[in-house]
Amino acid sequence: MTKGILLSLLLALAAASPSAAMDVVAEGRYKGTAEEYRVGDTVYLAARDVGSVYGAQVYWYPVSGRLRLSLRGRQLELMVGSDTAVLDGRRIPLGGQVILRGSEAFVPSALLSAKEFAAWTGMRADLEGGGRVLSVERAATVGPMRWSSAARHTRVVVELDGGLAYAGAGRGTSGMDVSVPLGAVGADRSERIEDGRVASVSLAQESGLVRLGIRFARPGMTWKLSELKGPRRVVVDVYSGDEAPAPEAAAAAAAAPAVAAAASEAVREFRIVIDPGHGGKDSGAVGRKKTLEKDVVLAVGKALAKRLSEERGVSVFMTRDEDVFVPLAERSEAANAFGADLFVSIHCNSSPKKADNGFEIFFLSEKASDPDAERLAALENSVLELEGRTLEEEEAEIILRAMSRTEFMNDAAKFAGLLGSQLRKRLDLPDRGVKQAAFYVLRGTDAPAVLFEIAFLSHRKDEARLGSKAFRKKVVEGISRAILEYAREKKGGGGAR
Ligand SMILES: [Zn+2]
Repeated sequence: MTKGILLSLLLALAAASPSAAMDVVAEGRYKGTAEEYRVGDTVYLAARDVGSVYGAQVYWYPVSGRLRLSLRGRQLELMVGSDTAVLDGRRIPLGGQVILRGSEAFVPSALLSAKEFAAWTGMRADLEGGGRVLSVERAATVGPMRWSSAARHTRVVVELDGGLAYAGAGRGTSGMDVSVPLGAVGADRSERIEDGRVASVSLAQESGLVRLGIRFARPGMTWKLSELKGPRRVVVDVYSGDEAPAPEAAAAAAAAPAVAAAASEAVREFRIVIDPGHGGKDSGAVGRKKTLEKDVVLAVGKALAKRLSEERGVSVFMTRDEDVFVPLAERSEAANAFGADLFVSIHCNSSPKKADNGFEIFFLSEKASDPDAERLAALENSVLELEGRTLEEEEAEIILRAMSRTEFMNDAAKFAGLLGSQLRKRLDLPDRGVKQAAFYVLRGTDAPAVLFEIAFLSHRKDEARLGSKAFRKKVVEGISRAILEYAREKKGGGGAR
């Protein structure tokens, strides 16, 4: 035992207050308690509890007094009796020494509010309630990341806080990276794109930096890095060699906002977003024979995307093309980044009334057209709870956006009508009509948007239909005909919007 340890022990014993439990609130939710210990004005927290608050692994060596916290592969090293910690070779002042109490290590609470610690954890910590509540909130400074495939380039966009520097660099012919020193991401993310230009993108926390990685689909790609404001975004456009803009055009595009660049394309493709509902931990409705809504709608969505990709003048974006959980807000954000002309969300229905069956088409409204429509909207919106959010939390944002919604409602109603008539021709199913309800996924989308419930998983025959490839093929054909009809009408009526 060193002199330092002995000294801190004696100090601790002399001015000790009885140990107590500090309440921990993370992201506004009560998370339990952390053992605390006060000496004068200094608050110490049990290292093991700090570890569990942040999801870090704690390695504690009581004999040597060494303490290591490991998070996402990065180590924070501490030592009993020392008033600095070491992270990636850099020293962080602790505002007090690490102390030993019983056989446990306690760290000064000031560590948690150190800038380097926040960057390491991606969380910001505050002592509130007179220092009796530890409040921890995500402090991501980089992200979210979005991407879209346009006619001539693939665009990857990442938001980042002002003050952060970044640098782009090629990785041979296989891709490029943008690194953001001292950046923090909420959660690592990686996406497959496979649009012929970009194979995949990822945004990941690494030691001391955040890395945006773009992996090209094949050699011969060129890329252009630019920045947009409000919010601050780093933009990477990836071109095939033969699509790369002339140097003058590239300079102009870098200076102009994204919208202007998109509008300048002479002939604009009709952009359709296909949104297979649910996915991952959110199964959606479950049939009597355990058919899952998320599987049916993914199969239909993929077949629809394939069918539409055979058409000229149409470009397709899917909000998900595998069994993954995608938050509702991200679906509409991605649709907006893509510049959607039409958004089609695909679902399967379910009802407590076993006899209910048929197809139903909805478009957005503040008021439901009938109680059943309202019940269904509540069901489809319930995924917000899985995302740790509530509808109330979204209200403010929704009201702000509601103004721009109305202009799309006529077009959505028109498409809903076309879809209904295409499906009536093809399916041996009752048409339950076009209805209105407040579906969250439709609300954030800057385009006419409809939600289509193919059939009822709670109905024995409908469930069997949904499991049949031939039935799904008819559904796909019906939707794609309606989309093409709608696109033709829009183009005839005044060209690209
Ligand atoms: Zn659904």
